[in-house]
Amino acid sequence: MTVQAYRSAIFHVLGDPARKPEGQAFEYWDDGGLLVEDGIVKSIGPWTDVKHQLPAGTKCRHFRDGMIVPGFVDCHIHYPQIDVIASYGVQLLDWLNNYTFPAEQKFADARHAATMAEFFLDELLKNGTTCALVFSTVHKTATHALFKAASKRNMRMIAGKSLMDRHAPPELCDTPESGYADSAELIAKWHNKGRLSYAVTPRFAVTSSPEQLQSAGKLLGEHPGVFMQTHMSENKKEIDLVRKLYPDAKTYLSVYEGAGLLGDHSVFAHGIHLEADEYKRLGRERAGISFCPTSNLFLGSGLFDLERACAHGIKIGLGTDIGGGTSFSMFQTMNEAYKVCQLRGAPLDPLKSFYLATLGGAETLNMDRRIGNLLPGKEADFVVLDLMATPLFAHRFALARSVAEKLFVMSILGDDRLVHSTYVLGQLVYEKAAAVRDGKTDQKRKQTKSNV
Ligand SMILES: [Zn+2]
Repeated sequence: MTVQAYRSAIFHVLGDPARKPEGQAFEYWDDGGLLVEDGIVKSIGPWTDVKHQLPAGTKCRHFRDGMIVPGFVDCHIHYPQIDVIASYGVQLLDWLNNYTFPAEQKFADARHAATMAEFFLDELLKNGTTCALVFSTVHKTATHALFKAASKRNMRMIAGKSLMDRHAPPELCDTPESGYADSAELIAKWHNKGRLSYAVTPRFAVTSSPEQLQSAGKLLGEHPGVFMQTHMSENKKEIDLVRKLYPDAKTYLSVYEGAGLLGDHSVFAHGIHLEADEYKRLGRERAGISFCPTSNLFLGSGLFDLERACAHGIKIGLGTDIGGGTSFSMFQTMNEAYKVCQLRGAPLDPLKSFYLATLGGAETLNMDRRIGNLLPGKEADFVVLDLMATPLFAHRFALARSVAEKLFVMSILGDDRLVHSTYVLGQLVYEKAAAVRDGKTDQKRKQTKSNV
């Protein structure tokens, strides 16, 4: 039995702040304690309580200028798109053709795929993201490589091979039959293996024929508990093209619904330009939307209506959407989410923002019984933040008068510099190398006896 104890400020969300009575949506302790036994949270609370529960000889790490938060959940990201992050000048359909498809073709090379899978997962952990819903390429081998790398790190991850049988380069196209067979093989090998799950992954209605969407629905019917991820209503030209390709469908969502792809294990990336009926049906089916603000702004796609989606009971998580998105950091994602909501005239509460980045994401992925916060019994995926990471962080945090203000400052100024270390199932999987700091920060650290 392995028992570990951690002492630090601790914050986690207990529910959607919009639905919980004031003060019951989160827990925060300035001097908190977290006790982990065999990778599972055993106890959490004020240090004065937790310290009495430590078995004799338990080692304790004390992060005096740190804050422990649950690991972040990224509800939409593409592992083969690291090469295309920060590619200039176009919107969705041209972006796919000019940048994305050429980059994804490189993943036919198993060695390239294996190298990029390692890089991708290390980058997630460096940013404090411990769970993600991931698109692979169309290649089966590249998808095996991703699962293998995630398994090695013991990460909770859901992923799938892209299904594409048209409107893409021939090198990236499968067929309804081969896509079905490859997906079935990957499900048999990886779904529910350790902390891994499979998602049937038609890229979007443009690149899949009606026959292929039907075969994706068949896979879901044959494998209960398997997830479904796709893109929907991201860009107006995309929506026009879907209308042309599926003239009989009432709405974009109807295309997926007709193929059996709408349910409570379905996560749709974007959903920016939804129609009234689509909001209703997504809410009724308890489906999820991944809100990807850095991508939506970067590709000029539009402003997601978070308030309206929440009002319909749609599950919402945040997604970085690398490489349309511009940062692996969920702090940067919260930052841009705030700005999208500002432009819609509805400022995003920082508690809600952290909810979306942790427990809300876990709910969207139906993982909230296991992750999303640090209640006893949950898997101990957590991040230690360094509130003194830069002179500006240190200065601004010192002025914050409430935990909500601290969280807001983090969400606007934060990025991977704020992440001191990341733990997966209670195991340290990332720790920031000793950073070069200037004199002012060092001085401030001495004054506050920091040991983060
Ligand atoms: Zn995407």
